Amino acid sequence: MEKIKICFLGTSGSVPQKNKNFASTIISFSGNNLLFDCPEGTQRQLMISNNSLMRINNVFISHLHGDHFLGLFGWIATMTLNQRKEKLTIFSPKGGRQKIIRILKETIKPCFEIEFKEIKRGLLLKNNFFEIRAFPLKHEIACYGFVFKENDKDGEFDRKKAEKLGIPAGPLYSKLVSGKIVTINGKKFCKKDVFDYSKKRVGRKIVVISDTRPLKESITNGKNADIMIHESTHLEEQKERAIESFHSTAKEAAEIAKKACVKKLFLFHYSARNNDEKEFEKEARIVFKESFCVKDFDEIEI
Ligand SMILES: [Zn+2]
Ligand SMILES: [Zn+2]
Repeated sequence: MEKIKICFLGTSGSVPQKNKNFASTIISFSGNNLLFDCPEGTQRQLMISNNSLMRINNVFISHLHGDHFLGLFGWIATMTLNQRKEKLTIFSPKGGRQKIIRILKETIKPCFEIEFKEIKRGLLLKNNFFEIRAFPLKHEIACYGFVFKENDKDGEFDRKKAEKLGIPAGPLYSKLVSGKIVTINGKKFCKKDVFDYSKKRVGRKIVVISDTRPLKESITNGKNADIMIHESTHLEEQKERAIESFHSTAKEAAEIAKKACVKKLFLFHYSARNNDEKEFEKEARIVFKESFCVKDFDEIEI
């Protein structure tokens, strides 16, 4: 089973810190590199983390606060200098397209195609491997959370079975798996001849929740996720500040994770008031044991 890789490119909220860049995350799977938020400094974080800054195909901007999208411009400028050819798709809330295009037109003039898509509740992207859905969060301005869901599998291709039957390796394998009938030396073969249905499984699920107050939608959309990544700007002792600025505390994030029955919670988007991310983890673990703070460049695989 191919691993899904998550890399935390930055973990700070609102302002960068000496040892933390602004919060953003990259999920890599099946040749796709999906960037969630692109704050200032993201291109350098990509370089340091050994993620190619040329190979991202989709960017999801949760909302149009500066600490979540201002890195787009420098990054696009670098890719223009490097003569990127492939299309880049940017998903952003309503109004994002005009804002981003205006700056790009006056400054960079990208040499490659940029496709803009407006984020609305529901399905944003679906392919043979996974889908991405969005749901609205509760922040000062329109802001969205994202659900990455690997497609459910009805089983797995069994190479040994195919070889035993004398089916030559290559395109015939994928033809059979897609449900087509293949004839070799007058003999007909179909999917069930080369497929192991005992490997049936539910696809893995990752939820990325940036700036928000705690929300029922986060529980319903995060239900049974393998990984929940949730903002944790403040600690409970600054709860008033969290309420005023539409953010969450570590404890609140843990309550959401617990109610959603996720396997693991990862906290990020820390306020500069608390430089020690372990404090967030400590607070969250009182409510939900499988809570973890992350540092810039931490990587996890599922
Ligand atoms: Zn933020
Ligand atoms: Zn914000």
